[in-house]
Amino acid sequence: MMGKTLDIAKIRKDFPLLETKVYGKDLVYLDNGATTQKPFAVLEALDAYYKDYNSNVHRGVHILSQKATSAYEESRKKVAAYINAAHSYEVIYTKGTTDAINLVASTFGRKYLKEGDSILISAMEHHSNIVPWQMICEERGATLKVIPMDKEGVLQLDLLPSLLDERVKLVSFTYVSNSLGTVNPVREIIRQAHARNIPVMIDAAQAVQHFPIDVQELDVDFMAFSGHKLYGPTGIGVLYGKEKWLNDLPPYQGGGDMIKTVTFEKTIYNELPYKFEAGTPDISGAIGLGVAIDYVNSIGLENIQAAEQQLVTYALAKLAEIEGIRFIGNAPERSSAISFLLEGIHPYDLGELLDKQGIAIRTGHHCTEPVMDFFEIPGTCRASFAFYNTTAEVDVLVAGIKRAAAILI
Ligand code: PMP
Repeated sequence: MMGKTLDIAKIRKDFPLLETKVYGKDLVYLDNGATTQKPFAVLEALDAYYKDYNSNVHRGVHILSQKATSAYEESRKKVAAYINAAHSYEVIYTKGTTDAINLVASTFGRKYLKEGDSILISAMEHHSNIVPWQMICEERGATLKVIPMDKEGVLQLDLLPSLLDERVKLVSFTYVSNSLGTVNPVREIIRQAHARNIPVMIDAAQAVQHFPIDVQELDVDFMAFSGHKLYGPTGIGVLYGKEKWLNDLPPYQGGGDMIKTVTFEKTIYNELPYKFEAGTPDISGAIGLGVAIDYVNSIGLENIQAAEQQLVTYALAKLAEIEGIRFIGNAPERSSAISFLLEGIHPYDLGELLDKQGIAIRTGHHCTEPVMDFFEIPGTCRASFAFYNTTAEVDVLVAGIKRAAAILI
């Protein structure tokens, strides 16, 4: 993968929080899988919305409302272009990935799941791509089935044909695992599911910020992601759905904006995308997400991918030199998260000692308890990278781990 070399020192100046000191030390922020830092452009867009044209959308004829509506809808077009959706009305704003998956689980489940049916997910799902399906399966008398993985953290695709039987009504799985870093073979899974007329949902929460995704080329039916992991604000996310599915499914929530007409006898629902956007939406969040996408585009997603791949390769090599380290997840296709354990040290203890050195990593089960159960571990330490991280920060992490190990062992 070729990418233009990025001027990381210059880029870092766009992110005010990266300048922060913690415990008097330079912050080394390696928890980008949990959430990314925000560039000035996004912060300024939020500020400008509230200062200059705060107003509700789709409601007023007055100039402020028109301005807010137009910014909100322009942002939708940016999201659609970013994932190459055929139509901007196939982009539904949600609160985030979790909300988007719940939307599909609830609406698809209510319409299509019957007793004896099943939903197929994978062994490495985030809780947000397990629990919503479990809930609707329980309600409808359906079962949740799982594509297993091996000890490297790779899905066992040889088992997929036998799992995709006629009872499976939908397949939902993550593009990139947040706890293992595995990049899953989405094209192959979609191909096999579609060959049996089974729709597919992708959890792209750990994917959209790292490499280009073309929903038309993938031919995916639904895709979810969160703005806050894509350098945008919290509280905003996206559900992409093919027009035919979004028209076919019932609304998720009822309320303002999602209706055309209401009488006490009957409500006529609004057209897409508003049918799925009941109530006042996160207007500033949507606008901020659009600006975050502009920012990412200005750097270039291919350049971001190349820079992050280099960083991860460097980090894997440097971390591997640490005595007693064990990587959890060794898939050949991987993205920006590295999970590891140090022999004899609880991940929480290591995380705490790293924190005191100004290094922010994540410790715990990463909302993937079944993954931890599979590896029979309480949790992992996870360093997750963004393009604004540097090899110097990797060196600080490695030195920090060695220092912590010297204290703890
Ligand atoms: N799926 C994956 C793979 C994730 O990493 C996350 C966030 N950790 C989510 C879903 C949930 O995202 P959110 O909390 O933004 O809804």
